[in-house]
Amino acid sequence: MATVQQTPAVSVNGSGADGFPVQNPATGEIIRTVPNTSPDEVAAAAERARAAQPGWEALGFEGRARILRRAQKWVIDHAERIIDTIVSETGKTYEDAQLAEIGYAAAAFGFWSKMAPEYLADEKVRTASPLVKGRRLVIRYRPVGVVGVIGPWNFPLTNSFGDCIPALAAGNAVILKPSEVTPLTSLLMLEMLQDCGMPENVFQVITGTGETGAALVDHVDYVMFTGSTKTGKKVLARAAETLTPVGLELGGKDPMIVLSDADVDRAANLAAYYSMNNGGQVCISVERVYVEAPVYDEFVGKVVEKVRALRQGKPVGPGTVDVGAVIFPPQIDTIDAHVKDAVAKGAKVLIGGKPAEGEGRFYEPTVLVDVDHSMTCMTEETFGPTLPIMKVADAEEAIRLANDSPYGLAASVVTKNTARGEAIARRIESGVVCVNDVQINYTALELPMGGWKSSGLGSRHGANGIRKYCDQQTVLVTKLAPKKDLHMFPYSARNTKIFGKLTGFLYGRGKRD
Ligand code: NDP
Repeated sequence: MATVQQTPAVSVNGSGADGFPVQNPATGEIIRTVPNTSPDEVAAAAERARAAQPGWEALGFEGRARILRRAQKWVIDHAERIIDTIVSETGKTYEDAQLAEIGYAAAAFGFWSKMAPEYLADEKVRTASPLVKGRRLVIRYRPVGVVGVIGPWNFPLTNSFGDCIPALAAGNAVILKPSEVTPLTSLLMLEMLQDCGMPENVFQVITGTGETGAALVDHVDYVMFTGSTKTGKKVLARAAETLTPVGLELGGKDPMIVLSDADVDRAANLAAYYSMNNGGQVCISVERVYVEAPVYDEFVGKVVEKVRALRQGKPVGPGTVDVGAVIFPPQIDTIDAHVKDAVAKGAKVLIGGKPAEGEGRFYEPTVLVDVDHSMTCMTEETFGPTLPIMKVADAEEAIRLANDSPYGLAASVVTKNTARGEAIARRIESGVVCVNDVQINYTALELPMGGWKSSGLGSRHGANGIRKYCDQQTVLVTKLAPKKDLHMFPYSARNTKIFGKLTGFLYGRGKRD
């Protein structure tokens, strides 16, 4: 494993003595110690951000985009160093870091630089209201000021730093609190932005524990949180104290439905890949599969064959392993508890089924059958390399079971009849549904990505992915006007009669059944 070279976090004041170690989950090695930022230091960081923000906003879209485009090039020029950093603190494979993190960040810098002026341009509005006809009506977007981004450990670049990019493009100062398990990539992004000429304190990283994240909520104008539903609720409750708006991207239990007319090879490849990529630690992983009875045996056979061929272990470069480590130490117990609970209730393990032996923290790629909704592996987020597969009588049963979940993040349907697939997709209670695909919607930054039910509030990407970081202001300008409008004081029977007639004329003449 290449050594991670990093400069200290220049924008944090936490003392090294009070820091915490960052471990490589694939080897157990301690890579570095980072500061634990105290609540007082968080408040000071927010003050610095607030002072720096107006200058950043004043640069305008083009001035900000210049720096963000430099960062895009930096990501490409330093891709190997970023991948080394991600791999060292997550134990994920080279490809999981390259495809889903480097690829995402490089695209996102270009996308938000280009789209920010369009999504945040003044909108001229035409109205049907007779009272404001002839006035200039404008919706205008203004950056909220200071945005706090709190991120998880599964994608330290994409899901922690990724949300900072549109917030910055909009003209905000940003304070990022990465997961204590994976702070190094965020610190490298800080170094990157400094190298690219980002004005001081416009972007800061505060390393620390949950307490640091909680303190950040108190000091910012918008909180963008990605993480578990449990912590998301705490963030929402805390933000209520200051009436701070919050975006929540939370957990999922994504179902895949395989219909009997599916291309079974593609279905098996989709299921095997999208349940095991990134070690299954993807919020939009395939977490459960429902297969129509006629193709069940064939599908299960093909999935097991593919999962059996997977190579797992310490990643030492491109193409060396397929499934990486379990990033967060307690997660391995959750995964194992779900498998054990399923087995105790009658499920069969076709492959895997236990933590891997040897160096590092790994869970064997696992396929479970004979599962049902009495088992946690079908109802709670497992977040590991496991795939429970359930036989169903028909699509109706599959839809009912897919919707039998508190979560609603993403889902997929596999069928050769795409019209039927789309009709089924529209009946699934989920923020995203792909037909004959999984997860790749995430690469289309034009498409909103957000969870329904307990999977979140709001969305990232698309117009809302940047407008949420702004206050929306309605501006109404009256140029030519009489001294007094008809509806103003004093009320008179004559004017009231005119308004009554006008209302009837405008709204009372339409055809009705
Ligand atoms: P957690 O909810 O445990 O932590 C997320 C972040 O919140 C971490 O930085 C954590 O700090 C911080 N935090 C902890 N307590 C508080 C608090 N009281 N107030 C503010 N911040 C706090 O999530 P995980 O890191 O375990 O991430 C995995 C989860 O993230 C899964 O459920 C996954 O589905 C979800 N996720 C959702 C995505 C989506 O787009 N919907 C994308 C990626 C992941 P610390 O680490 O120091 O405890």
